Amino acid sequence: MLHLLSNAEPSASQPRSSRAPGHATIEIAERTTVGGRDLAIIAGPCSVEGRAMLLDTAHAVRDAGAVMLRGGAYKPRTSPYDFRGLGEEALDLLAEARAATGLPVVTEIMDPRQLARIEQAADVLQVGARNMQNYALLAEVGQSRKPVLLKRGLSATIRELLLAAEYILAAGNPNVILCERGIRTFETATRNTLDVAAVPVLKAETHLPVIVDPSHAGGRAELVIPLALAAVAAGADGLIVEVHPCPGEAKSDGEQSLTPATFAELVRRVGPVARAVGRRSGAPRNGRASRHLEAPCPA
Ligand code: PEP
Ligand code: MN
Repeated sequence: MLHLLSNAEPSASQPRSSRAPGHATIEIAERTTVGGRDLAIIAGPCSVEGRAMLLDTAHAVRDAGAVMLRGGAYKPRTSPYDFRGLGEEALDLLAEARAATGLPVVTEIMDPRQLARIEQAADVLQVGARNMQNYALLAEVGQSRKPVLLKRGLSATIRELLLAAEYILAAGNPNVILCERGIRTFETATRNTLDVAAVPVLKAETHLPVIVDPSHAGGRAELVIPLALAAVAAGADGLIVEVHPCPGEAKSDGEQSLTPATFAELVRRVGPVARAVGRRSGAPRNGRASRHLEAPCPA
């Protein structure tokens, strides 16, 4: 029996958390939640590449209205010869960015042995698409007290995503955020195909919050805002967006990364759509006045 399905019969073996009626609101940090009325916008670079770029990006996305910072320290790359992240150095930088901006941090865990170290720097543990069915990893993050952001596998069905989440709940961690990030189809015009329908399907079948990653779905910067608007209109609880101060120089996923200024535009344009579907949408803290949004791209 799927414990996650809200219409499943409760049983003695069912985790307490999954019996929650309606929709769960997950507390990430003081004043930061995912799954409530507020649309949660998470943003930051694909990879942490260095101190200046991370701090610049963190301040810029905060000023534009993001409520959480993303940044990869350990990167799952298709080719082993691509940049695979700065590892522990990146975790220290993420901790510094959190202290400097007050933004909670989400970063990817790829190996159960990384858990203790990542928990020191991160407020949310990301399990990436490639690891959605890494059951040892799911069991490990299931024992953590930190919320988990679980991304849908490249070719995973919605049921497989729910069963992967179930591993985390069954291990004792009730705080799972599901993420639709596009799936592999016959279409080649986009990096992946955003399954917008997954949002209302998941919202109907489980109490867990559902967010959308329009960056990995579209794979191109010009698609990110339209896909974000579609996701919010479909009822997503939040977005996770890649932002780089100079996308052309990014060590990973530059083609799909927004500049800080374009990210600020995304937040502005998402606001009316969020309100139209009954959500509150984070107002920019410093809006257009922020000097961080103008961060020049080095020549
Ligand atoms: C990422 O968030 O940078 C990432 C690698 O995402 P995914 O696991 O969805 O490919
Ligand atoms: Mn990426």
